[in-house]
Amino acid sequence: CGITARVGGGDALEELLTGLTNLEYRGYDSAGIALRNGSGLSVHKHEGKIARLESQVREVRPAGEIGIGHTRWSTHGAPTDANAHPHTDCTGSIAVVHNGIIENYDELKADLIDRGHEFESETDTEVIPHLLEEEVAAGHSMQDAFRRVTAQLDGSYAIAAVSAETDAVYATRRGSPLILGLGETTQYLASDVPAFLEFTDQVIYLEDGDVVTLTRDDYEITDTDGYPVTREVRTIDWMP
Ligand code: GLU
Repeated sequence: CGITARVGGGDALEELLTGLTNLEYRGYDSAGIALRNGSGLSVHKHEGKIARLESQVREVRPAGEIGIGHTRWSTHGAPTDANAHPHTDCTGSIAVVHNGIIENYDELKADLIDRGHEFESETDTEVIPHLLEEEVAAGHSMQDAFRRVTAQLDGSYAIAAVSAETDAVYATRRGSPLILGLGETTQYLASDVPAFLEFTDQVIYLEDGDVVTLTRDDYEITDTDGYPVTREVRTIDWMP
């Protein structure tokens, strides 16, 4: 339902929570975040209100400059803690949030289970981190792995991912909105502009098939074959 992400200077936690709160008006049944710190990813997710997630993470205060967040509106699997996003691979080093539906997830999941993957949720989304894990294990960079995986997905989606091994957020869309927010030393990504509008008004509306790698001071957009594409930077002149 709602995606928010940020890469940059300083602590990610408060800006991710702000992003999620700003998307609350769209409705949701669960919320979660994943932050990348020096030693790996910390994932916190809950069925229920963002306030519930907030009170839990404020106690733990996970550190990290890179993170993704999600408000879920269930399509596959009941609203439970396990089905809330982000979802991770078997090693816990890749985390993914997703809006929309992966139409061919059941075949992908059956094949992954045959290849030894264990699943923790009933969502269509969870195939994505497991597929990424395989591509990375096969020697592909996260960026290439991300492109290779999205080529296998049918349906409508906006996806954002983080890896414990890299300093970036990866994202793509097809049939579901995703917008970049460009700052000086911090970059943002969200499914809707109000998520980050208090941090930057410089935005790029991504198009279907765009694959983005977002780092602290730069962004790269390619098509699904890896060829660079250029998108217009716009200034938002409205406030929600
Ligand atoms: N299909 C996914 C799920 O049920 C994502 C739903 C959403 O857009 O929030 O978990």
